[in-house]
Amino acid sequence: VQRTFSILKPDATRRNLTGAVNAVIEKAGLRIVAQKRIQMTKAQAETFYAVHAARPFFGELVEFMTSGPVVVQVLEGESAISAYRDVMGATNPANAAEGTIRKLFAESVGENTVHGSDAPETAALEIAQFFAGNEIV
Ligand code: ATP
Ligand code: MG
Repeated sequence: VQRTFSILKPDATRRNLTGAVNAVIEKAGLRIVAQKRIQMTKAQAETFYAVHAARPFFGELVEFMTSGPVVVQVLEGESAISAYRDVMGATNPANAAEGTIRKLFAESVGENTVHGSDAPETAALEIAQFFAGNEIV
């Protein structure tokens, strides 16, 4: 059993889609073992997406991630990291497969509804950025 870190991004909370997205997550066999709604600070968003700091869209990305509340989550399941990436769909919703969260809900490559960790090392770091161990049950 593996854990991954998930964010329901501001476009999801703005459109009141957190329950709809969570239904897809749970239907995919992933268990939400921690969850909270927060307003990310600019510093938190910059730290979280530090790997993209040199990309041309970095400023826009930080702006978007702090534009409204997000729901941060820890998901647990068999091969949770790849399982969640599969159900999220491609970064650009135009390329996302049928039935994926981004195909169902995302509006653009920037406002693409969800984040999911891409590797065990990043999952551990991302979970630790937002959750204490005793918040994950
Ligand atoms: P995430 O890390 O959010 O789960 P991802 O792993 O599918 O998404 P990354 O390449 O890590 O994609 O990009 C991180 C985020 O940066 C994307 O989810 C998207 O919100 C934003 N992003 C990526 N490419 C672009 C782009 N060309 N223009 C605007 N925003 C982008
Ligand atoms: Mg990524």
